[in-house]
Amino acid sequence: MPNHYAVIGHPIAHSKSPLIHAAFARQTGQDLEYGRLLGALDDFAGEVRRFFANGGCGLNITVPFKEQAWALADERSARAELAGAVNTLIRLDGERLRGDNTDGVGLVRDLVENHGFDFNGRRVLLLGAGGAARGVLQPLLASGLRCLVIANRTTAKAHALAALGAPLGPVSGCGLDDLAAERFDLIINATSAGLADAVPTLPSDCLAPDGWTYDMLYGDQPTPFCRWGHEHGAARVLDGLGMLVEQAAEAFWLWRGVRPETAPVIQALRQSMGHV
Ligand code: NDP
Repeated sequence: MPNHYAVIGHPIAHSKSPLIHAAFARQTGQDLEYGRLLGALDDFAGEVRRFFANGGCGLNITVPFKEQAWALADERSARAELAGAVNTLIRLDGERLRGDNTDGVGLVRDLVENHGFDFNGRRVLLLGAGGAARGVLQPLLASGLRCLVIANRTTAKAHALAALGAPLGPVSGCGLDDLAAERFDLIINATSAGLADAVPTLPSDCLAPDGWTYDMLYGDQPTPFCRWGHEHGAARVLDGLGMLVEQAAEAFWLWRGVRPETAPVIQALRQSMGHV
């Protein structure tokens, strides 16, 4: 199985990762195959071991296995360590596996390189304190922002996540009800509310006049939080498709040592989803 890669998750049929990595491989002239693996809910570790024993070179990991992948890795990057979750496994010499998490760098690159957002001196609100929020904490705190506020429906989880990030940068946690007098230059939605066609309950004026909104969720139609951004006058309204492609590009680079161009891949995906 030469140069074989895959994404493992449950469910997995919806995953766009095979399309993205096939486009990267064509563009960079890399000879590789990238498939989908429906992970068994009761035997994730066994399945991963079999994939690598059969010659697999690298795996992406998606819901619900990112924490199990973290536990399985023999060594981990600092950003994966803080994230408590691994979305990329790299085969080292022998049977050892290195775990990394490319979600946060994917988010920051999408904002900075694809859309020109300047984090320096900015006040950023991160909504949610689950796996996605934790996964992006370290790269956000390394971005140069002035302060990061993590707000979550369950306040205690926001405090716990802020305590985890505190050694790395200016971060605090609060409940959604505590945002009344606050204004933010960027609001990032890392909650799963959109999957139930909902948005976290926010004060209507918490976005600064030139503020941007970013929803980690994406879909064929504008997400509920993207609609919220438009309704509240956001200067830019972004969804998570760019983050998806950028996290994949970082994984591709970790595996292949080649950095693909992401812009044409994002554009092609948007076209296939009827966005443009
Ligand atoms: P988790 O289940 O770990 O966490 C869910 C979070 O959402 C919790 O903080 C929860 O709050 C909050 N939440 C859920 N419903 C509501 C609601 N109605 N109002 C307010 N808060 C709510 O999920 P993940 O962190 O793994 O995923 C979050 C989102 O991020 C998903 O939509 C996922 O698709 C997206 N994502 C996108 C990626 C990309 O590449 N674009 C990568 C990774 C994730 P509480 O603690 O109170 O329950």
